[in-house]
Amino acid sequence: MESRSTKFIFITGGVVSSIGKGLTTACIGALLEARGLKATAVKLDPYINVDPGTMSPFQHGEVFVTDDGAETDLDLGHYERFMGTKMSKLNNFTSGKVYETVIANERRGDYLGGTVQVIPHITDEIKRRVKLAAEGFDVCLVEVGGTVGDIESLPFLEAIRQMRADVGAQNTLYIHVTLVPHISTAHEYKTKPTQHSVKEITGYGIVPNIIICRSDQPLDEKLKNKISLFCNVSPNCVINAPDVKTIYELPLVLHKEGLDQRIVELLHMWTGAPKLDPWEKIARSVTSADRPSVTIAMVGKYVDLTESYKSLSEALIHSGVANDCKVSIVYVDSEEIEKSDVESAIRKANNGQMTDAILIPGGFGVRGSEGKIATARFARENKIPYFGICLGLQIATIEYARNVAKLPEATSAEFCPTSPCTVIDIMESQKSVNQKGGSMRLGAYPCALKDGTKARKIYGKAQISERHRHRFEVNNAFRTTLEDAGFVFSGTSPDNFLVEIGELKDHPWFIGVQFHPEFQSTPKTPHPLFTSFVAAAKAHKAQTTSPSNRVEKVSTNGSKGGRSTRASSQNADATVGNQS
Ligand code: GLN
Repeated sequence: MESRSTKFIFITGGVVSSIGKGLTTACIGALLEARGLKATAVKLDPYINVDPGTMSPFQHGEVFVTDDGAETDLDLGHYERFMGTKMSKLNNFTSGKVYETVIANERRGDYLGGTVQVIPHITDEIKRRVKLAAEGFDVCLVEVGGTVGDIESLPFLEAIRQMRADVGAQNTLYIHVTLVPHISTAHEYKTKPTQHSVKEITGYGIVPNIIICRSDQPLDEKLKNKISLFCNVSPNCVINAPDVKTIYELPLVLHKEGLDQRIVELLHMWTGAPKLDPWEKIARSVTSADRPSVTIAMVGKYVDLTESYKSLSEALIHSGVANDCKVSIVYVDSEEIEKSDVESAIRKANNGQMTDAILIPGGFGVRGSEGKIATARFARENKIPYFGICLGLQIATIEYARNVAKLPEATSAEFCPTSPCTVIDIMESQKSVNQKGGSMRLGAYPCALKDGTKARKIYGKAQISERHRHRFEVNNAFRTTLEDAGFVFSGTSPDNFLVEIGELKDHPWFIGVQFHPEFQSTPKTPHPLFTSFVAAAKAHKAQTTSPSNRVEKVSTNGSKGGRSTRASSQNADATVGNQS
């Protein structure tokens, strides 16, 4: 039997950046999977960096890590959260990576005698990579980063234009995502930017089959018909994607607009109706107004830049679905803590209230680290649920070493390389590394869980696999001292050489992990650690709000502060559940 050829859907963006092309791509993938198709997605990034691993969170937001250790664009996180297909090194590449390959080919002599040019050499390499990622799938979604009109994305547009001739018109579809802005003084939605954007992309030889119009409110039929007329697509191929309360509503909105039906028709694919019940359930749960809520303080450095904690905030939303509660995140700047104290800084960020739990996410560098160490101490002493992720485990270890294991000088080699008391040290494998890009401990590694520990109970199995991105680790030279003082290393590499999880016994929920569990959480399969952490936050809230259960608080310097604990925590403004 002749094998079915892979269909390619190319997604470009127009008018402005940040209109949610990545999410749209992920949702199309979810809809096609819900129709029983095997779908994958590739993100093409036009910048020259070989990958985003060396870029600052201010420039790029989160670096998403795949099982096979690729440091990728955060859109791959959206793809994995919406689609069943796991992403890999093949699913994201940049101009830098394409040029790196072509130049290496040239140096090897592969093009001997030839002049190496953007067309065909660069475009061929782009197409080769796209086709490689598509192998074995019914549909491959190809998202082109940037906005039409950017100089740097031209080779990508040219490559996707050529793909139509390469694989056949019946196997390719072009979707253009644009913005239809509302002009408040005119009380009108304006289609002109969309018209210009479609004209621009048509000038590159790409004629969109479907236009997805982002808008703040739903657009009426008249506007859609106008876009259809001026942009040369049939009216039912103008799809409106208005802002939604939660991103998990988006597959449903796009389906209602007929997007997946149009796609399968235009690509001549015959499938049944999509099964969308899981998405309906998730969207209902995230938007339901009468759910109880918990508030979590996320203590980090990039508090103004929540995009750098994207997977983390989504993982907390997923665990809210699992716990049937709303999870609000309050971002607390660890440098603010250094200027005042933990409780004041958290209350200041949370309308005067204490939060129900504390999380220290991954991070790099010494700045703000003392504030984080004080935070771990505050959570430990006051029995507030604490979740430390990557750097958050290292911080908790330093805190325990200093204040319990009687090692007052304890620190990390990352903060003070010359210290004699580096309870967190550079990993052996990192000592010889002299190149910054792609050289951390990256990707999935197995971890063995110790019987009788919280971690073992939460995961419900003895061996797990989690994704990493770090250079430092718990120093084995201090392991016995820390264990003797009561710190429990509940997860290690199977050979017991690397610490993967640390936890406390006499505490309701105090766990630090050397990996990034947030990368594996999806709304359909919330991560057990996050689910358990949010359950602990709920329990803590119930305990502290019950009048008979008020506990005396220990201040950050260890003395009994005598401050009364919080009443209830309401912080609707800080919720991350409604970002679109
Ligand atoms: N900076 C720490 C390290 O490299 C932690 C990294 C992280 O939190 N991802 O080990």
